[in-house]
Amino acid sequence: MVGAGLAGLSAATRLAAAGCDVHVLDAAQHPGGRLATARVDGFLVDRGFQVFNTGYPRAADLDLPALDLGWFWTGAVVRVDGRAHRVVDPREHPGTVAGTLRAPLGGPHRLAALGAFSARAGYAPASRLLEARERTAAEALRSAGIGEQALEVFLRPFLAGVLLEDRLETSSRYLDLVWRSFVRGRVGLPSAGMQAIGEQLAGRLPADRVHLGVRVTGVGGGAVHTDAGTTTADAVVVATDPDTAAVLLPGLEASAPRQVTTHLHVLAESPWPSPLIVLGQPGGRLVNSAVVSDAQPAYSPDGRALVASSTLAPTREADVREEVARLHGVPSTELAHLTTVTVTGAQPAATPPLQHRRPVDLGEGLFVCGDHRDTPSIQGAMASGARTARAVLRRLGTSSSTVTDPEPAEEDRRP
Ligand SMILES: Cc1cc2nc3c(=O)[nH]c(=O)nc-3n(C[C@H](O)[C@H](O)[C@H](O)COP(=O)(O)OP(=O)(O)OC[C@H]3O[C@@H](n4cnc5c(N)ncnc54)[C@H](O)[C@@H]3O)c2cc1C
Repeated sequence: MVGAGLAGLSAATRLAAAGCDVHVLDAAQHPGGRLATARVDGFLVDRGFQVFNTGYPRAADLDLPALDLGWFWTGAVVRVDGRAHRVVDPREHPGTVAGTLRAPLGGPHRLAALGAFSARAGYAPASRLLEARERTAAEALRSAGIGEQALEVFLRPFLAGVLLEDRLETSSRYLDLVWRSFVRGRVGLPSAGMQAIGEQLAGRLPADRVHLGVRVTGVGGGAVHTDAGTTTADAVVVATDPDTAAVLLPGLEASAPRQVTTHLHVLAESPWPSPLIVLGQPGGRLVNSAVVSDAQPAYSPDGRALVASSTLAPTREADVREEVARLHGVPSTELAHLTTVTVTGAQPAATPPLQHRRPVDLGEGLFVCGDHRDTPSIQGAMASGARTARAVLRRLGTSSSTVTDPEPAEEDRRP
C-alpha cells in the first residue's frame, strides 16, 4: 500500500482483516495524509480548516466516541450590513427558528425552498440523487427556487468552504451528496485534531506494518521501489494524492486540484455564544472564519479562542486581518496571528460529469485508490479505499466470506 491517507488506511485495514499481509508505506512522518495536525504555541492547528461530518456513510468505520468530537452547530452566522444573523438547522436547535426566519435570506418562502432542497438531498434514495439530471451546483440551487439573496449571502460562501470553489461550478450530484451529509449528520472536530482520524485507522494495523518516512519512487511488475530499496508484492495499491498517483501510474487521469489558505488567530475570548462558522461576505476574500475552539475546546491550551479563517486564493495575513476582525465584530488589534497554512492540493475538483466510481483495478497487480477515484472528501477517500480492497481481494481470489465489508449500498446507509 503506497500512502497512509484515509484511502490507503481504509483499504489496508480491510485487507489485513481479510488475512492479507499488508505493508503500508508513506513518505510523511504521520498517518492520515491530508488530515494533519500540528501543535503551535500549545494550540492544535489542522493543516487547513477542515471538519469531520458524521453524516458520511463511512463514518460507520470509525470509533467516533474515541475521537471525542466537539461539535459545531449545523448552520452559520451571516453578516449583512454589519449585523450578524444566525441561520441554524431548526431540528437541532428549535429555539433558533425565529432568528433564522428573520435572517435576510429573501423571506420564509426562500427558507421553505431551502428546506425542500434539504429534505430531498437528505432523504431521497442516493441512487435517485445520482441519476438526477446533472448540472452545476449554481444551476441546481437556482432551479430549486432558493433565490439570489440566500444564494449570495448564505449558500455560496457556505459551499465555497466545502467545495473550495466559489463559482459553484461543482456537479449538482456531488452537491446533493454533500448536502445529504449535512442533513444526516453533525460536524465536529476530534479532541486531538483531525490527524487523529488517520491515527485511529493506522492503530488497527500492526505497528511493524506501517512504514513512515518511506518515499515510493516507482511501482510496477509486482515491485515497489522506494528511497530505501525495492520490495515485491502480489498486489500494489497506489493510495497517494492525485498528482503523485499520476506520476507513479502514467496515463491516470485526475481532476484539477483545489487550494485553500487558512490563517490562524488567537483572541482572548470567543465573541460568540454558540459554535457556528461565520461566513465570508460577498466581495470579500474570506469564505469563512470559525472559532474552532468553540466547537472543540481542546484546540486551545488555556481557554483563549482559536480562530481559523480561510481564503480560496492565496493571501497574506495582512490582507485579511481587518476582514477577520469585521466578521467577528472585534477590533483587529485584538487578533494575535498564530500561523498561516496554504494547501495547494487540498482536494480534486468535482465538476460535471461527476465520475464518482473511477476504475481502481489497473491490471497486472496494480490498483489505485484515493479521493480522486470517488469524491473529494473524507467520505470519498474512505469509500475508495473500501472499494479498492474489494477489488484486490477479488483479484487475489480471496474468499468473499472473509471480507468484512461486502459491497454495500454505501450512500444509502444511514449514519
Ligand atoms: C485544507 C483541507 C480541507 C479539507 N476539508 C475537508 C472537509 O471539511 N471535509 C472533508 O470530507 N474533506 C475535506 N478535505 C479533503 C480530505 O481531507 C481529503 O479528500 C482526504 O483526506 C484525501 O485522502 P486520501 O487518502 O485520498 O489522500 P491523502 O490524504 O493525500 O493521502 C495520500 C498519502 O500518500 C502519501 N504519499 C504521497 N506521495 C507518496 C510517495 N511518493 N511515497 C509514499 N507515500 C506518498 C502522502 O504522504 C499521504 O499520506 C480537506 C482537505 C484539505 C487539505
